[in-house]
Amino acid sequence: MAPSVRSPPIRLLYTLSSALKTTSSPLLTGHRRTFSAGNPARVEATWWKEPMERLRNIGISAHIDSGKTTLTERILYYTGRIHEIHEVRGRDGVGAKMDSMDLEREKGITIQSAATYCTWKDYQVNIIDTPGHVDFTIEVERALRVLDGAILVLCSVGGVQSQSITVDRQMRRYDVPRVAFINKLDRMGADPWKVLSQARSKLRHHSAAVQVPIGLEDDFQGLVDLVQLKAYYFHGSNGEKVVAEEIPANMEALVAEKRRELIEMVSEVDDKLAEAFLSDEPISSASLEEAIRRATVAQKFIPVFMGSAFKNKGVQPLLDGVLSYLPCPTEVSNHALDQNKNEEKVTLSGTPVGPLVALAFKLEEGRFGQLTYLRIYEGVIRKGDFIINVNTGKKIKVPRLVRMHSNEMEDIQEAHAGQIVAVFGVDCASGDTFTDGSVRYTMTSMNVPEPVMSLAISPVSKDSGGQFSKALNRFQREDPTFRVGLDAESGQTIISGMGELHLDIYVERIRREYKVDATVGRPRVNFRETVTKRAEFDYLHKKQTGGQGQYGRVCGYVEPLPEGSTTKFEFENMIVGQAIPSNFIPAIEKGFKEAANS
Ligand code: GDP
Repeated sequence: MAPSVRSPPIRLLYTLSSALKTTSSPLLTGHRRTFSAGNPARVEATWWKEPMERLRNIGISAHIDSGKTTLTERILYYTGRIHEIHEVRGRDGVGAKMDSMDLEREKGITIQSAATYCTWKDYQVNIIDTPGHVDFTIEVERALRVLDGAILVLCSVGGVQSQSITVDRQMRRYDVPRVAFINKLDRMGADPWKVLSQARSKLRHHSAAVQVPIGLEDDFQGLVDLVQLKAYYFHGSNGEKVVAEEIPANMEALVAEKRRELIEMVSEVDDKLAEAFLSDEPISSASLEEAIRRATVAQKFIPVFMGSAFKNKGVQPLLDGVLSYLPCPTEVSNHALDQNKNEEKVTLSGTPVGPLVALAFKLEEGRFGQLTYLRIYEGVIRKGDFIINVNTGKKIKVPRLVRMHSNEMEDIQEAHAGQIVAVFGVDCASGDTFTDGSVRYTMTSMNVPEPVMSLAISPVSKDSGGQFSKALNRFQREDPTFRVGLDAESGQTIISGMGELHLDIYVERIRREYKVDATVGRPRVNFRETVTKRAEFDYLHKKQTGGQGQYGRVCGYVEPLPEGSTTKFEFENMIVGQAIPSNFIPAIEKGFKEAANS
C-alpha cells in the first residue's frame, strides 16, 4: 500500500469562487444604447427636465444631540407628512433621551425610513437617512453617494464638535454640496457667529450667513433673510405661519454689514458676482441667489442658515434654502463601472433617457417582507418590468413599486432617473446594481477586496443567539467586505473584514442595535501537519478481547505528491494476491483519507 498525501485544500476553494465570479450570463452581455442625431428620444428629451429640476435628494448630518431628529420631524410636519409634533424627550425629561429608532418604536410609526419622500412648494424632496454611525464602512459610503446634497446641523452652543468634523469630512470626500444649519438659537449661550467662525477654522468652510437672527436665547424671535432683505417671524402654535415683515430699524446696520460679508465671500468663488460687486452695481436678490446657488452646487461655498427646530423657528426658510441652493440630480455627475470593459468608468446621463441603471442602497425588513430602496441613476423603471441584477446575473420582475412617506407608502407605476423608490420582494444585497439588461454597469466595484483580518466572536449569553445571527446576516448583506464563517474544526464563528476598526464597528453595532454583548478574540489557529518527505510506517495494533487476542499490522509509506499535482490525495493499492481481502480495501482508503484531513 502506498497512500500519498498532500495537504492544502484552501487554494482550491479560492480558484472555484473566482471562477464563479467571472462567469457571465449570456443575458448580461448587451450593449449600451447609443443615440444618433436623428433619434426621436433625443429630440423630445425634455419632458423630464422640469420634474428633474424640482427634485432634491438630501441627507441631514449632525453631531449627536444637535437636533437632527427634531429638525427632521419639523420638516415632515411642515411638509404635511406627519400631522403632529412629538417631542424628543430630553435628558431631564421623563425617561431617557430617545434616538430616532427608539422614538419610532415608541410611536409605532416610521419617522425616518431609509428615504422619506415629502413635497415642499411643488418640489419633491427625498430625505435620505445617513447612518447614525460615522465610521468608514461601505454602508456609509453608499448612503452618501445617494445624496445630491446635505444639511449639516450645528448646535449654536456646542459649536463644531468631533462628530461634526467627521461627518463633514465624509461629505467632502464624496463631493456632497451642503448648507449648514445653526440650531438651538433659543438656548442660553447661543452664539451663531462663534459657530460660523469655528466652521471656517475647524471645517475649513468657505461660508457666510444668509440670515441674521432677530434676538437670541429667550428673546429669539425670527430671522432676517440677507438675500431677500425681509424679516421672517413664525406664528401659530407650531410656527406653521411664516410672516414676512420689514427689517427692524435697529438691525439695518448689522444687516448691511452681514450682507456685504456674504457678497464678498461668494464673489471670491463666483466670477459673475465678483464682476457686479467690483463695479459697485447694486446686487439684486435674484442675482445674489443665483450666485449662491452656483457656488454651493460647485462646492465652493456653504450658505449658513439659523434657527431653533425645537421652538419652530427657521425650518421653512431652511427648506426654501434646500430648493434654492442644493443641486437637483442632473447637476451632479454620476459614474458607473462597465463590467464588460474591465470596470471602465462610464458617465451616466443622469436622465430618464438611456438604459436603466439603479442602485439598491438599503434593505429594510418591513411588514410585507424585504423592502429594497433604489436610487435610479439613469432610465426609467416600471412596475412589471424585468430587470437584471448585474451582481448576481438574476433576472427579476418588479412586482410592486412604492414611494415611502414618513408613515405610509404610495404605490406608483413608474419612476425615473434621479428618483428614489422602494421595491418589494426583490432578493438582493445592498450595493447591487439593477439594469434593464442592455448594459452591464455596476455603481460600485464588483471586485470586493479579500478580508485582511479575522476575529472569533460569540455572544456572551447563549439566549441571544437569534439576535446575534440576525445581526451578522444583516451586516453581511449590507457590506460585502464583512464576512462571516464557521470554522468547522474549532466550531468558532469567525468574522472577517478590512481591519481592526472595521470589525470593531460591527461588534459595537451588534451591541447597540441588537442588544447582544459579544466577546471577541483571536481565532484559534488549527495547526496542521503536512508531509514533506517520504516516511515509512509499520504499526501493530493489538486488541485483547478476553480469550485470544486480535491484532492488525499496517505498514507502508507516505510521500508528498509532486509539485503542482492536481489531486490532493492518491491512494495506491500495492497488495499482491489476497494478502488482505479486497473488500477491506475501500475502508482502508477511507481511513487514510480521514487521517489526511487533520
Ligand atoms: P439628534 O441627536 O441630533 O437627533 O438631536 P435631537 O433632535 O434628538 O435633539 C437633542 C435634544 O436637543 C433634545 O432634547 C431636543 O429636544 C433638543 N433640541 C433640539 N433642537 C433644539 C432647539 O432648537 N432648541 C433647544 N433648546 N433644544 C433643542
